[in-house]
Amino acid sequence: VSASRPPASTLPPWLRSGLGFASQVSRVQQIVKQRQIHTICEEGRCPNRGECYARGTATFLLMGPTCTRSCAFCQVDKGHAPLPLDPTEPDRVAEAVETLGLQYVVLTAVARDDRPDQGATQFAATMQAITQRCPQTQIEVLTPDFWGGEPDRDRAEQAQADRLAVVLAEQPACFNHNLETVERLQGQVRRGARYDRSLRLLALAKQQAPMIPTKSGLMLGLGETQAEVIETMQALRQVGCDRLTLGQYLQPSLAHLPVQRYWTPAEFEELGAIARDLGFQQVRSGPLVRSSYHADSSQD
Ligand code: SF4
Ligand code: SF4
Repeated sequence: VSASRPPASTLPPWLRSGLGFASQVSRVQQIVKQRQIHTICEEGRCPNRGECYARGTATFLLMGPTCTRSCAFCQVDKGHAPLPLDPTEPDRVAEAVETLGLQYVVLTAVARDDRPDQGATQFAATMQAITQRCPQTQIEVLTPDFWGGEPDRDRAEQAQADRLAVVLAEQPACFNHNLETVERLQGQVRRGARYDRSLRLLALAKQQAPMIPTKSGLMLGLGETQAEVIETMQALRQVGCDRLTLGQYLQPSLAHLPVQRYWTPAEFEELGAIARDLGFQQVRSGPLVRSSYHADSSQD
């Protein structure tokens, strides 16, 4: 999960953007706060909030705000015991979606390695609650890898497939799971997740529900080379991944991984063109692109 906050003055000019749409932003903030729910947009103080809210899109963080993992790029709270799941959360999220009149929502979650189902059932319950209140609203899910809690690899693979099936049964508009970075940098960037397991999850999603588009994303600026980014895109295409996001990593605080390099807008464009050539059907590539940026495929 990521939607990093620019640390202001030292950023290259293409990353300095005003929020805009101030009244939309404060309205969403108020509604989210009143209902004590969490969004990646607000927790990460995402620079795209004004634009996304005006388009009727937001990304909700379920089962939070404390994660059982500790990825080195992510500013979600970690290191404390996670709270018990709240059975009222699905309806509170659905009510916020209804009140805000959102057309396209992204549901994501902290990793819940403490839960026997890794949180899959709470995803499904929230999707059901939103569909009940807002049947027209499209729902994209951006899930953790659903891996863990089993004594051996065979059972872990089966459990991962079963948890995924619980989510896909609710027919999301898109199934999203981020690789976050290239293979070489996985260990230092993501904690508790692995490149092969994430690719496996995307492959399984295609097998279980071929009609549901799959999606993944990378943050650039962590030390990867262009060749490694292209290799990663090829690996994603090999598991049938349909959609891709590429955005600039921004260090949320000094305690997080430093930025190694700011990729330029022209470089993002070039990578976007390569991604399209590789066969991705939807590509969002740019410095401020986040996993959920312009996720609604109908609008560009
Ligand atoms: Fe952040 Fe990693 Fe937890 Fe996701 S799994 S919320 S990226 S710390
Ligand atoms: Fe929220 Fe994603 Fe838009 Fe950022 S890009 S404001 S996290 S929906």
